[in-house]
Amino acid sequence: MKNLNVICLICCFSLVGISCKNQMKVSSIAIIEQKVDSLLKSMTLEEKIGQMSQIRHFEEAADLHVTEKFIGSIIHTQGPNPGKTALGWQNRFVKLQKKALSTRLGIPLLFAVDAVHGQNTFEGATIFPHNIGLGATGNEKLVQEIASITAIESQATGFNWVFSPCVAISYNEKWGRVYEAFSESTELTEKLTRASVKGYQGKLSDPTTVMATAKHFIGDGATDFGVEGGNTSLSSEEIKERLLAPYKTAVKENIGAVMASFNTISGVSMHAHKALITDVLKGEMKFDGIVVSDWKGYSRFGENDIVNAGIDMVMAVDGDLEDFQNGVKIGVETDVIAVSRIDDAVKRILRQKFRLGLFENPFPDASLITKIGIKEHRNVAKQAVRESLVLLKNKDEVLPISKETTKIVVVGEHANSSGLQSGGWTVNWQGTKENYKGATTILEGIKKHAKGIVVYDKEATQDHFDADMAIIVVGETPYAEFFGDIGHESNTRKLTLTEEHQKYINTYSEKGIKTVVVLVSGRPLVVTDQIENADAFIAAWLLGSEGDGVAEVLFGDFNFSGKLPHSWPKSEEDYKGKYGPNFWDNSIQSLYPLGYGLKY
Ligand code: BGC
Repeated sequence: MKNLNVICLICCFSLVGISCKNQMKVSSIAIIEQKVDSLLKSMTLEEKIGQMSQIRHFEEAADLHVTEKFIGSIIHTQGPNPGKTALGWQNRFVKLQKKALSTRLGIPLLFAVDAVHGQNTFEGATIFPHNIGLGATGNEKLVQEIASITAIESQATGFNWVFSPCVAISYNEKWGRVYEAFSESTELTEKLTRASVKGYQGKLSDPTTVMATAKHFIGDGATDFGVEGGNTSLSSEEIKERLLAPYKTAVKENIGAVMASFNTISGVSMHAHKALITDVLKGEMKFDGIVVSDWKGYSRFGENDIVNAGIDMVMAVDGDLEDFQNGVKIGVETDVIAVSRIDDAVKRILRQKFRLGLFENPFPDASLITKIGIKEHRNVAKQAVRESLVLLKNKDEVLPISKETTKIVVVGEHANSSGLQSGGWTVNWQGTKENYKGATTILEGIKKHAKGIVVYDKEATQDHFDADMAIIVVGETPYAEFFGDIGHESNTRKLTLTEEHQKYINTYSEKGIKTVVVLVSGRPLVVTDQIENADAFIAAWLLGSEGDGVAEVLFGDFNFSGKLPHSWPKSEEDYKGKYGPNFWDNSIQSLYPLGYGLKY
């Protein structure tokens, strides 16, 4: 009977002249919709609310909750790892999946991870430059390839869903998440969003692809003074005009999920913003995937209001599960939440599970484990490192450095630490200052390329004033989310370099030694004086695991091609207002405009 319906549908479309390829697409969509509807009909309210719940894999009763609370999804982010090896990770998720499949309806779980620059939660995976660096490459093909590699390495560790890409347009460098997004340019963000979604999702039902998430909807990077989760005084209309474009692109590419944002818009929490979530995203834009809450969204942003606003799945973590499930149940029983709203949420979740092919192939493929961190993947990451470097100054053509240079002194702890060069969301949520498995450092690359003497003077205390050249690597220490906000009570971060790092540069430049400064940072910093003092200055962003890629450009194997994905600030004064330089305020002149970048 089902098949007959499909054949009828196909015949109808032939009659009205729809191409064969489109017929197949339409028929597969129709089949999925039929499956979703029939499964939904057989579900109890508890089972539906269960599908809307996402929990952590290591919670005490996680296994029990999967079977008794009909959980729809598992998240891994910071906290204990699911296992010691990739197989251990897969086994943990296979165990949970088997539990889900053993329930009355056997609906498979979605496994989600913050793979935001590679499968960065697994030590030994290929870690790519953060999105700001990819913004500097401007290379769509490369970004697509990176996302497809990330999908493979995520699947290899047991995941079918990534919380990436972040498609924010950052208005203020004080925001601690500037680096998670591609650019301040809407056009560039759109272009790379398209590439990224294509790369992650491919043909979604393949075992090597994952569901992607556009985040954080909407206004995350446009809060006043760059406060993470703060308020934006842009109106809903301005938000739509200025920030919606990359979401439109993502929806056009059939992105599976969109994550709600922590910020408020003129005082209204985005999680509870029905006009933007339901009317605009789901209505006008016809997004048919899952709107997922952010961390503990239910207890933090208005409980049932967020469900009514259009949130479909909730990160019911760290003690939120009981409140969420009971709260929604009572909400439905007391008519605070309409059953049709719950049905809409569950349909969206089931639809994606069918699209991913999880009902046929619920388990990760163990043969993919051999792909984690392989040379082929690392070569792509190294290409991304090379293409992300932006040359801001090259006085008297000090670059490229001759490989025959007699003595080079390398300065700064960032030169010799893969953790420091990679930023937040690397191995740990807040990153690491240590070297991590499989990665190479900037210093290692320099040593590989230089034929003369290379000495390492970590803190510029050893007075190697006989050196012909100093390569000085300075920058920010790793951070994620509000820990990176300038002015947040959790830190003493500034938009300038620390005094120690300024001293590293001065120590050698004051002795007349040619200085090449490499800045490792998640955002443009105010380094006007340091650029003045250095002979060459390079913005290297947050590189990821292939630090040795930097030397390939410094020593002339490849030329620079990176272009600034943000306009570059001149002074701290530029940040007196709500937004950064050149952002909707033409009175502020940036030091370098968006798109700037030299070659040698
Ligand atoms: C972040 C999201 C992230 C989520 C899950 C939140 O705190 O804002 O970007 O995907 O945690 O780890």
